[in-house]
Amino acid sequence: MPWTETQARLKLRAALLGGGLHLAYQPIVHAENAEIEGFEALVRWDDPGVGAITPDEFIPFAERRGLITRLGDWVAREASAQAASWPQLQQQGTFVSVNVSPVELLSGSFSERLQSILEDTRLPPRHLLVEITETSAIERHRETVRELEAVRRLGVRVAADDVGEGYMKLRVVSRLPIDVIKIPRRAMASRSRLAQRRFLAALVRYAQRQQIQTIVEGVETWEQFQRALEAGCDSVQGRYVSWPLTPEGVEEFLVSGWVSPGRDESE
Ligand code: C2E
Ligand code: MG
Ligand code: MG
Repeated sequence: MPWTETQARLKLRAALLGGGLHLAYQPIVHAENAEIEGFEALVRWDDPGVGAITPDEFIPFAERRGLITRLGDWVAREASAQAASWPQLQQQGTFVSVNVSPVELLSGSFSERLQSILEDTRLPPRHLLVEITETSAIERHRETVRELEAVRRLGVRVAADDVGEGYMKLRVVSRLPIDVIKIPRRAMASRSRLAQRRFLAALVRYAQRQQIQTIVEGVETWEQFQRALEAGCDSVQGRYVSWPLTPEGVEEFLVSGWVSPGRDESE
């Protein structure tokens, strides 16, 4: 972002109020039968002057400058309203997932706010999934567990995002009340690395035992897709399936379904 922190804060606040943000939705499909499982909502900020600003840039900034709760509320409300407006999504039993920052999760009233968003938008809670990352899970473990349990009591499912990166190790994951584990492609990148292979095998075994769904994300090629299948993971997400879509794109995807493009010989 080409601005000072103060300018950026004003710009982001204005974007939040004035429609400068939107969501893109990336499909998640079952690896074996290609059925649609859900869509991850990813926030986008388009500034008229500088163009697209990526979430990796402005989410940490929003956390630092006290805007993350408002931003997170906007994302959850927008995604729920959108999901409630897609009859196909509900008929097919699929979900929309939203990323929740640790700062937002532990802000004190997260589950209450989520509940009123679900009521206002009339989205049945089983069609919503909340994705959380590692920091809070480690540093403020008890509070995190308490909040996640409150979220699950609403009927909303919980996913641990980016497992296998950073500190999100099996020991941490196994102490969290979760329904889904999301594994970045990197975690299964090299078959040659024994420690990585063992970690992945242990993770998948744990998930199967606990009836936790596993999603591999960032899958770009047929080969990576095959590797996810071989590792015993349930679902995949990534450009091999589809890039993030507009809301209209989601409606089309729900109607047409997904057909695996197969092996790309140029790979
Ligand atoms: P994430 O939750 O792990 O999301 C997956 C990221 O991988 C997305 O980046 C997505 O566009 C990208 N991706 C999808 N398919 C592929 C692929 O085949 N190859 C590669 N290389 N990348 C792929 P994006 O949208 O830039 O988001 C980055 C991160 O920002 C997200 O990682 C998430 O942690 C965070 N984020 C996004 N939206 C929100 C939000 O609404 N709230 C919060 N708190 N964080 C968000
Ligand atoms: Mg995510
Ligand atoms: Mg992720």
